[in-house]
Amino acid sequence: MHKSLRHRFLPIFMALLFLIISGQPALAATTSTGSSPSTRTVTLNSGTKYSTPMYVIDSGKPGPVVLITGGVHGNESAGYLAAARMKETKISKGKLLVIPKANKVAVERGTRYISGEKDLNRAFPTKKGTTPSYKPARAIYQVVKDYEVDWVMDMHEGYDYASRSSSVGQSIIYYPSTKCTAMAKKILNKVNSGISTSYRKFESLRYPVSGSLARSTAQYLGTNSFIFETCSRDTLNTRINNQVLAATTLLRELNMK
Ligand SMILES: [Zn+2]
Repeated sequence: MHKSLRHRFLPIFMALLFLIISGQPALAATTSTGSSPSTRTVTLNSGTKYSTPMYVIDSGKPGPVVLITGGVHGNESAGYLAAARMKETKISKGKLLVIPKANKVAVERGTRYISGEKDLNRAFPTKKGTTPSYKPARAIYQVVKDYEVDWVMDMHEGYDYASRSSSVGQSIIYYPSTKCTAMAKKILNKVNSGISTSYRKFESLRYPVSGSLARSTAQYLGTNSFIFETCSRDTLNTRINNQVLAATTLLRELNMK
């Protein structure tokens, strides 16, 4: 290099070197796969009326990725209240993603879905390789892909007990896979161990309805997915406790708690 050129470029080179070195700790912190646990909030559909928070609880260690959703139906209060509790969960491995109010507007209105719009639990793909057109569904479906979710638990409620009606209250509705079938049995055993009245016991049903979050993610994205339904005839506290017990059983069985 010509001497005068070297003199001209040396300060620039030194400045760049300084920037690279001083920038490194920040860069390392954001890309770390180390062992510091963290919780952050990601806003889905930010800036629109559908905007809703997702809580990303990262153990900082490798392990299963679990998504818990509530409020897909806005009038099923135990679902979104139990999901809100789950965002306080501490985990020892993997990641826990929680979307307490999947359909925030419907939750605020106390309605199953937003009047004049789609039922969110019928808005997910019914064909492989397609993307939901309805924004609240599209954002959640994208989360399942982006975070490579392994397990989906969608919290819902029925108006009566499945054992004595056509409603789906007190049931786990799962999409069968070796893992998911075994997990459904474990969750049923756990929640039913605290219920003595036979018609109130949870039962297993399948399949999740076409167009539902559980059905589409399991069938087209390969996750282990299920819907957990409490019955709105029980007290709100009992329903929330049953939802939380099912969710914590899932996390314990996956050795995340
Ligand atoms: Zn529902």
